[in-house]
Amino acid sequence: MATNDPTTQTLAQLGDGTPEKVVARFDGVRHEFDERAAGASSDPETWKSFVVQWTGRKSGVLSQITDNWLKPAPPELKKAVGQELNKLKAHVEAVLEEKCKQIEAGAEQAAAARGQIDLSLPGVEHAIGTRHLIYQTYQELERIFLSIGFSVVEGPEIETPYYNFEALNIPEHHPARDNMDTFYIHGARGGHLLRTHTSPMQIRTMEKEKPPVRIIVPGKVYRRDNPDSTHGYMFHQIEGLAVDADITFCDFKGTVEYFVREFLGPKAKTRLRPSYFPFTEPSAEVDATCHVCGGSGCRVCKFSGWIELFGAGMVDPAVYGFVKYDPEKLSGFAFGMGVDRLAMMKYGVTELPVLTQNDVRFLRQFP
Ligand SMILES: [Zn+2]
Repeated sequence: MATNDPTTQTLAQLGDGTPEKVVARFDGVRHEFDERAAGASSDPETWKSFVVQWTGRKSGVLSQITDNWLKPAPPELKKAVGQELNKLKAHVEAVLEEKCKQIEAGAEQAAAARGQIDLSLPGVEHAIGTRHLIYQTYQELERIFLSIGFSVVEGPEIETPYYNFEALNIPEHHPARDNMDTFYIHGARGGHLLRTHTSPMQIRTMEKEKPPVRIIVPGKVYRRDNPDSTHGYMFHQIEGLAVDADITFCDFKGTVEYFVREFLGPKAKTRLRPSYFPFTEPSAEVDATCHVCGGSGCRVCKFSGWIELFGAGMVDPAVYGFVKYDPEKLSGFAFGMGVDRLAMMKYGVTELPVLTQNDVRFLRQFP
């Protein structure tokens, strides 16, 4: 008998015997089937041929037993052979079915291991971030100024002293330079620096564009401050500039009041205090009635009823000389807002560092 035969049992004939001997013969076949099924390869082709060896209609083991044992069996054994054959068939089919399930499960696992996608699996949820509070504030500021005809321009964070200082009417040795502790990139004052404000874009825009000019300039600025709860090396500004024929202080005041009402609510009132900036004349600090107490006094406004918003003023005519604008025919106003400060004030944030630490427990409070 060839080694690849499904069983070593003699299937050719049953011969004479007793029912006990019949049972023993079937036990032998079943025992061998169990052994071979347990050790059968799960390779699909090999498995298929194993199934055919046992259940194939023409020459499968079960068919051979039917033909060689059952059909020629003497009457006194026929019943025993029939019963044993049925039991063997049921056993073989049950074992083959179970083994089949195992092989299919193994094939699925192998497919998963190869990276094939199981469409029945639930999806993986990706956390979607939100806009940062600073970005939200920028968006709101831009919305307000875009609605009254301003456009947004951006400029370089690395500047020359000319654009950061001189053209803004801050000559060398001017005390205003000392107020803006500056990061100089090459160590010497003749080289480049990190802009200390967004005002250089006033000059760059007026150099390129003829009046009328109405721009806002969002961007990061840098100063050598000692970091604490309200100071850092970097902060966010938004610059504004409007230049045209016949822009008056009334236009300036009206624009400021419109902004304050849009940003803090329709009941907010505005107050201008005299101030000094080298590139505006006259200059003003813009205050608004406290948005928390409405002006009656509270901890946020230090019981004054007013909060300081930003600095502004009419463009100093000296600045126009640097950009070849005619100060006799043109006038305008400018302002520079600290966006971090406005965001902290409006949303009740007391610590500046949380704006850059990106702690999700903080960020989630401003969805
Ligand atoms: Zn208050």
